[in-house]
Order: sequence, then structure tokens, then C-alpha cells
Amino acid sequence: MKRCSHWIDGVACAPASDRWLALFNPANEEQFAEVASGDSTDVEAAVGAAQRAFPAWSALPNSQRSRWLERLADALEARSDEFAAAETLDGGKPYALARDVEIPRAVANLRFFAHAATQFSSESHHGEAGLNYTLRSPLGVVAAISPWNLPLYLFTWKIAPALAAGNTVVAKPSEVTPLTATMLAELAAELGFPAGVLNLVHGLGPEVGEPLVSHPQVRAVSFTGSTAVGKRIAGITAPALKKLSLELGGKNPTLVFADSEWRTQLDTLVRSAFQNSGQICLCGSRLLVERSIYPEFRDAFSERVRALRIGDPMLEPTQLGPLVSQQHMDKVLACIQRAHAEGGQLLCGGRRLDRTGWFVEPTVFEGLGPECASNRQEIFGPVVTLQPFDHEQEALALANASDYGLSVSLWTRDLHRAHRMAAGLQAGIVWVNTWLMRDLRTPFGGVAASGLGREGGAEAMRFFTEPKNVCVALG
Ligand code: NAD
Repeated sequence: MKRCSHWIDGVACAPASDRWLALFNPANEEQFAEVASGDSTDVEAAVGAAQRAFPAWSALPNSQRSRWLERLADALEARSDEFAAAETLDGGKPYALARDVEIPRAVANLRFFAHAATQFSSESHHGEAGLNYTLRSPLGVVAAISPWNLPLYLFTWKIAPALAAGNTVVAKPSEVTPLTATMLAELAAELGFPAGVLNLVHGLGPEVGEPLVSHPQVRAVSFTGSTAVGKRIAGITAPALKKLSLELGGKNPTLVFADSEWRTQLDTLVRSAFQNSGQICLCGSRLLVERSIYPEFRDAFSERVRALRIGDPMLEPTQLGPLVSQQHMDKVLACIQRAHAEGGQLLCGGRRLDRTGWFVEPTVFEGLGPECASNRQEIFGPVVTLQPFDHEQEALALANASDYGLSVSLWTRDLHRAHRMAAGLQAGIVWVNTWLMRDLRTPFGGVAASGLGREGGAEAMRFFTEPKNVCVALG
């Protein structure tokens, strides 16, 4: 049976405890591999390796760190089919989605931050108070903790800026989908990446994640995952005054105004709700629709959702695969039961598929108000609600009726309205007449229960460096 080992100091290693966790293929429920179940001993070894590697890595010219990331990107790109297949095996996502979107995005993340390494600059201020310039230095050893829904995409989104800025990394991928991060560490070792620069410790959150974020030598923590775990990590890192970036959950609204081109954009609207079976933090799970088009929209949307092809994720025509795990499927099915209990009317879906694998039909409810748990708590699955609104102010109030504030997609042809709404929406990202269009230079992140800080572009480079102001008296 294949084993995903830790990667510490440039070599694969078994966990000190020799405990392993089973990995299952969500499409057939069969175990296909094992992953190391690490603990604080492994974390200690990884942090030690990262510390030893830091002086040389941080002293490399930026152009050389950039070159290492470029080489890793090239090597990943050359094997992207293999990585895409691994992503499908591990997490159940459609192979075509992994091949066409997620692995290319992982390559793009590595390339983008390879360029950032040579192009990042700091400020200087020249005036009455002399000449001031900002020195930006890498922090040291940093931790990167990532979730299961976009495994390599989010893993590279963290490690690439951390390494580009001159830090060394101890990363903990999700124990549910550790395959591609392990393959990337193998690839880095094959390329001759300096040992200890990128370390991987697998295992459960409380057993690996907590010792990692609380380790005194770990200077910063970049975390993507649930709000509950994010809060716990904030509680651990705050007293130690560590830098912390939190990308957390969401309950994103999609606002459809009557004047929008929704009829020709239905495929995008459906995708924005159900891509990766709704297991993307940016999926819109609350669709708010102007009342004058509500009946027509509801019927057309539900029909398009019913037509989604759900099945074997390795097959090309498949649009929706299984959910990532039995545990997650059980949670989603419980949320569907709760929506019924709250008085929701089912428009389509609502059941587990009668076949092997953790498949849940794409599901649409109506008749649930903003106060319902179905509209307040993150489901993170193929379940959405429709709510009508009468005017812009009501749309804004419904959209903002959430503890979360990650992203919004807004559909209208009225540009004045688009700008007004964008300014008033509680969210870190507002898409107008599009969804999931990403320029990697832009700040990425959420407000309120969706997180703290921003990733992307210069924001990420700033997070992974410490600024020092140097003030020189003139004359
Ligand atoms: P999770 O919080 O359960 O786990 C995320 C990671 O944290 C995993 O690697 C896990 O092992 C680790 N972890 C768990 N407990 C820990 C602890 N006590 N200390 C340290 N680490 C710990 O989240 P998940 O179920 O893997 O992912 C789904 C969640 O991630 C959803 O809420 C989703 O919205 C969110 N998410 C957010 C974004 C974003 O950019 N905002 C992107 C993707 C996913």
C-alpha cells in the first residue's frame, strides 16, 4: 500500500510513532493509501531542519530563489496529468477540473511568486524627516496549514510566497488529501531543492497542527480552513504575538438583478454554486434573486442543476464527483434534513445517490429566510437556497445578513448599482458579472468570520516579511 511520508530535511521519513492514517477514494470508498500520523516529535524535527536551512536560503540572491520556484513550477507542469489524477483519487473532484483548473493554478502560483521574488520592492519616504527606507527581511521558519478542498492549489498559494520571500517552511496539508503535497515534496527533492527549505509534516490538527503553530521557533502561521479551527489557532498564537493569516469559511451570496444577463450566464451561475460539489470557499450558496424574475429564474436554474452530470470523477463528462469523505457527506446530509425541518421547499436533489461512493445530489431549496441556520451556517457542499428580494436595499441587507464575509457575486447591467453595492457589501471580494475570476496580484481574503489578513500579490510578500524603517538624517 502506498504511503505518504513526512518530508523533513529533504528526505521522506516515517512518523516517529510509526502510526498511519488510512486514505480512502471517495468515489468507491476503498482504502488506497496511508498517510503519516505525526506528532510533536516530528514537528520538532521539521522545525529544526527548517531553522538550519534558513540562513543559507534567506541569503540566496532573490533571483536564485526565484529560479528554484520556476524549476518546481516547470517540473509540476510536466507531470500535471499525474498530479490531477492524484487530486481526483484523494478528494473525488472531477479529473477535468483538477487538470484544467487546479493543477494549472498551482503551477501559476509557483510562477507568480517566482516573479514576485525578483520584483517585490519596499517603500522609501524622503522629506522633512530625512530619508526613510523600509528594509523587508524574511521572518525565519513559518507554518503553512491547508485544507482538503483545493489541496495543491492552496498549498502552493502559501508555500510559494513564503519561500520567495526567503523563509523556510513547515507545511501541514490536510490529513484527508495529503497526496499531491507529498508528490510536490518528492519533486522538490528530485530537483535537488536545498534540504530543509520545504518540510512536510502530516497528521491530525490537534496532534501536528497545534504543536506546529505553538512552536516557539515558528514566526508566522498562514492558515486556511474552518472558522472554528482558525479561532483556536488565533487563541494559541496571539499570546506568543505571532504573525497570523487566517482564510476561513464563507456563506457567500450571489445577487441576481432582473436587468442582468442571467439567461445567458446560467451555466456560470450554476457553476458558482456547485463547482467541486460546492466544496469551494468561494461558491455562492445563498442565491438572492429579484422578485420580478424569481419564478422564471427558479425554474430555469433548477432545470440546469438537475441536468448536472454526477458520477465517476475520472470520466471526462462528469461535472460533480463525490464529497470528500463519509464524515463530510454525513454532515451535508444532516444539513439537508435541517433545511427540511426549517420549512424549506426542495426544488431539486436532496438525496445521497444510490451507489457506492459519497455522492450527494446537487440540491436547491427555497422558502428559507435569512435567520434560518441553512442560510447562516456554512454547509460546504452541493446545497444552495434561493431567496427573492424586491429592491436594492433589501438585496444588500439579505446579502449582509451573515457572520461571514468572504465573497459575493453580483449580476446586473447597471454599473452605478454595481459600484454602490460593491461599496456596501460585507465581503473581501466582490465579483461583478463573473465568478472566480482571479488576478493573483489582488488582495485575497475575507472579513468578519471569514478571516484575518489578505493573501495574494504584494500582500502575501508583506505578510512573509518583517518591515524595518531606517531613518537617515539629511544635511
Ligand atoms: P479544517 O479547519 O478542519 O482543517 C484545515 C486544516 O487545519 C487541516 O490541515 C487540519 O488538519 C488542520 N487543523 C485542524 N485542527 C487543527 C488545530 N487544532 N490546530 C492546527 N491545525 C488544525 O478545515 P477543512 O475541513 O479541511 O476545510 C474546509 C474549510 O476550509 C471550510 O470552512 C472552508 O470554507 C475553508 N476554506 C477557506 C478558504 C479561504 O480561502 N477562505 C479556502 C478553502 C477552504
